[in-house]
Amino acid sequence: MDSLKALLSKLPSVNEVLQSKRGLEWQTLYPRKFVLKAIRDSLEELRGSIFQGQSTEINDNIIYDGIEKRLQKLCSFSLVPVINATGIVIHTNLGRAILSEAIMEHVKEITCRYSNLEYDLEKGVRGKRYSHIQQLLSEITGAESSIIVNNNAAAVFLCLHTIAKGKEVIVSRGELVEIGGSFRIPDVMNSSGAILKEVGTTNKTHLYDYERAISENTALLLKVHQSNFKMTGFTEFPSIEEVVKLGDKYNIPVMFDLGSGSLIDMKPYGIYSEPTVKDIIKAGVAIVTFSGDKLLGGPQGGIIAGKGELIEKISKNPLMRALRVDKMTLSAFEVILRLYLDEKRAKEEIPTLRMIFEDKKTIKRRAQRVLLKIKKLFLNDFASFNIIHDYSEAGGGSLPGLPFETYVVSVKPFKVSVNSLENRLRSSRPPVIVRIKSDSLILDMRTIQDNEIDILVKTLAESLRGSNL
Ligand SMILES: *Cc1c(COP(=O)(O)O)cnc(C)c1O
Repeated sequence: MDSLKALLSKLPSVNEVLQSKRGLEWQTLYPRKFVLKAIRDSLEELRGSIFQGQSTEINDNIIYDGIEKRLQKLCSFSLVPVINATGIVIHTNLGRAILSEAIMEHVKEITCRYSNLEYDLEKGVRGKRYSHIQQLLSEITGAESSIIVNNNAAAVFLCLHTIAKGKEVIVSRGELVEIGGSFRIPDVMNSSGAILKEVGTTNKTHLYDYERAISENTALLLKVHQSNFKMTGFTEFPSIEEVVKLGDKYNIPVMFDLGSGSLIDMKPYGIYSEPTVKDIIKAGVAIVTFSGDKLLGGPQGGIIAGKGELIEKISKNPLMRALRVDKMTLSAFEVILRLYLDEKRAKEEIPTLRMIFEDKKTIKRRAQRVLLKIKKLFLNDFASFNIIHDYSEAGGGSLPGLPFETYVVSVKPFKVSVNSLENRLRSSRPPVIVRIKSDSLILDMRTIQDNEIDILVKTLAESLRGSNL
């Protein structure tokens, strides 16, 4: 074993590494800044570990491979595609709705060239950014007018700020929800300048609760979709029609934050809990807001639809400029909304809808294909594999508590723990994100895309064998 001094003397200088064969090659492949940083940091780390007695052997391979690994990490993208094997279709942490190549084809065309984003081609004058989707949204939702902003949180904020700043907004206590991260109705209300007036109780709110709270300072009656939770037992809330009728009586507009907002009727699929945006508009609600990247299956965005004069007022709010959407978003929405003109096409061509409505036989066939490919790789020494009937979720606060029948490939590893297998899959490229159920790893086939099967099986094999480490 070399002495400390001998080990340290084996470390090259930064300059020596730069002038070496591999050093010169790195400089042609990567930004010089990163090459320098990787060399310095690696040598620094090696020096530290020699002093601490952790490195007892130093050679060129150790030094140069270490630098290269660091360099690759420095230069690779941080935002990368992952394989979603959780079965949660609208997974907020994994980017919510995914778009198809066909949708992106149009986005690419609009983005890589100049467009009539805000130019009226007929008159040759300045046009309106939202004109490209307004008619489509009216067709699909029955709303007089609409706009799209950055996300639904922005939509709710903008509406409250425009309609109710300095005035009271009446909301049921059962609807003061918190949705993921930091969206809490009372907080959004507060920052918009609207004054929250809570009525009713957590589980029951009556129409008379709303009526008693109305004063000359009431600007809005607000309904909020409970989204990410479900109440059972003794609960009671007035119907949206009743709230609208009350609003009409006092000449106060009603707004409904629908959260997910379905554009298609889910009743034929046994889903009765989710009214369509069209139903809500038809009930006479003045404004509805909903997300672009939840059930709708589009890009991030917040749609505000409703009465023409209110939409006009909202679109004149100076904040609109701060919350407006980009042409990439807008062009993706235009393609997707066009697909909704034909529900059948929408369900086939919008990935979110396709995954939610995919029948269990198709999912089972995918599981069988995966299992067959696993078998061909002789992995039986490493784990046992089974196809199991299970349930997946829509996710993203959409259709809460509603189980969707699915098939999963369950993997019971022999040579590593389930947790370390999960860790290996998550650390591979592409990362595979899975569920764990007792002592098995669960790969839900609902959210696996057909073109991901080969890479999924390969990654799983490497993780089981430990050969990608
Ligand atoms: C998801 C959700 C929001 C926030 O929508 P984002 O598009 O994520 O900003 C607001 N309200 C409700 C009821 C929701 O479900």
